[in-house]
Amino acid sequence: MANRLSGWRGSTRVAGFRAIDCEMKPTNPIFTGLPTTIFEVMSGLARETGAINLGQGFPDVDGPEEVRRVAAEAFLKGPNQYPPMMGLPVLRQAVATINKRFYDLDVDWSTEVMVTSGATEALGDAILGLVRPGDEVVLIEPLYDSYLPIVRQAGGIPKPVRIAPPNWELDPDALAAAFSDRTKAILINTPMNPAGKVFSRSELELIAGLCLKHDAVVISDEVYEHLVFDGRRHMSPMQLPGMRDRVVRIGSAGKTFSLTGWKVGYVTAAPALMEPIAKAHQFVTFTTPPALQTAVAHGLAFGDGYFDGVIADLQGKRDRLASGLAALGFSVLPSAGTYFIVTDTGPLGIDDDAEACLRMTREAGVAAVPVSAFYVSDPPKRFIRFCFCKRDAVLDEAVVRLAAWIDTQGQ
Ligand code: PMP
Ligand code: GLN
Repeated sequence: MANRLSGWRGSTRVAGFRAIDCEMKPTNPIFTGLPTTIFEVMSGLARETGAINLGQGFPDVDGPEEVRRVAAEAFLKGPNQYPPMMGLPVLRQAVATINKRFYDLDVDWSTEVMVTSGATEALGDAILGLVRPGDEVVLIEPLYDSYLPIVRQAGGIPKPVRIAPPNWELDPDALAAAFSDRTKAILINTPMNPAGKVFSRSELELIAGLCLKHDAVVISDEVYEHLVFDGRRHMSPMQLPGMRDRVVRIGSAGKTFSLTGWKVGYVTAAPALMEPIAKAHQFVTFTTPPALQTAVAHGLAFGDGYFDGVIADLQGKRDRLASGLAALGFSVLPSAGTYFIVTDTGPLGIDDDAEACLRMTREAGVAAVPVSAFYVSDPPKRFIRFCFCKRDAVLDEAVVRLAAWIDTQGQ
C-alpha cells in the first residue's frame, strides 16, 4: 500500500535529514524513508516563512494557569523520581471518576486505568500489546498518522475503510467487508481528526456488532472527547451493550487542557486487555513525569464550568473562522468536534490540496494541512484542514491574508 504522504513534497528538506553515505545493513523498512509528519512539515514551513499556523493542531494560548501552577509546585516540591509504572494513583482515580461522570462507566482505577506519555504512546502500546503478526486491523481513513506504521510494526495487516468529504459517511457494507474472523481490532477516532465527525450512536453500534460477531476489540482514540459542539455529547463505544470489556478507550490531557506539549495520555481498558498493553508501556516509556500527572489529576476534577467553557470558546472560534472562510468563497464542511474544520480549495483555484497548502503558506502567509495526507491511497485532493484553536485576532488576520492573496490570484 503506497502512502501518499511518502510522496509529500518538501518533507525531508524541512526536517533536514540527509542520506547516510556509508555502507550499512538496511534499517527497519517500516520507518526508514517515512516522511516527516505533515504536522511537523507544515509547522516547520510556517516557522520558516512567518506564516500564521493553522496547520498543526495546537492552541496558541496555554491551558488553565491553575493546572500549570499545580505542575510548577509539584516540580519544585517533588518527588521527581520514577512514579509507579501504571501512573500516579491520583491521576488514575481522576480518570476513573471522569469515566463515571461523563459516560456512566464503572471503572476500577487500580486495574483498568493506565497513564501514558500522550495518546500517541497509548495507541502504540495498545497496538503492540494486542495485535499479533498476521492479525487484521480495520482502520478508518482519513487516518491519524501514527496508526499505520505501528500496526505494520506489530505485524498487523491493515484493512482500510474509507470515508470521504464532504459527507464523511461510513458505508456499512464496506465496513462489514473489512471484517473477517482474522480481525483482531478496529481503530476508530471519535471525534475524528481531520473530519470533525462525531460518530453517531448507530455507527458505533454497527462497529460494536461487527466486533462482537468477529471477536474483535475497538481501540478507540477519543482524544477530542471533551471538544464536542452544538450541545452534542461525546459517546464512547465502551458505553454500548457487550462492549465494556472490548474497548480500549484512549484520552489526552493535551486536548482537554490546551496543553498539547505535556504529552499526558490515559488508557481505560478491562484487565485482560490492559495486561498486555501495560507490558508494552513498560518498555516504551515506563512512566510519565509525575508533576504533570499531579496537575492533570487536578484539572480533571474541575467542575462542569471548565468543560463547558472550553466547548463554548472553541465553538465560537470554529464559527468565526468558518464564516470568515465562507465569505471568501470556501465551502466549509460542518465540524461537530475537534480543533478542525475542513474546506474545499474552491476560491484558491488550485485543484491539488498539497500544492494549495504549500502556496498558501508561502504566498498568503497562512499554513494549513492537506486532507489528502490522511489517506493511504487514492485520496480526495481538493480539501484542506484548518485548525481554529487560535486567538480571535489570529483567525481574523488569517482571513484577511487569504482574502488579499485570493484577490491577487484573480488579477
Ligand atoms: N490521536 C489523534 C486523532 C490526534 O489528533 C492526536 C494529536 N494530538 C493524537 C492522537 C496524539 O495525542 P497526544 O498529543 O496526546 O499524543
Ligand atoms: N494531532 C495534531 C494534529 O492533528 C498533531 C500532533 C503531532 O504533530 N504529532 O494536528
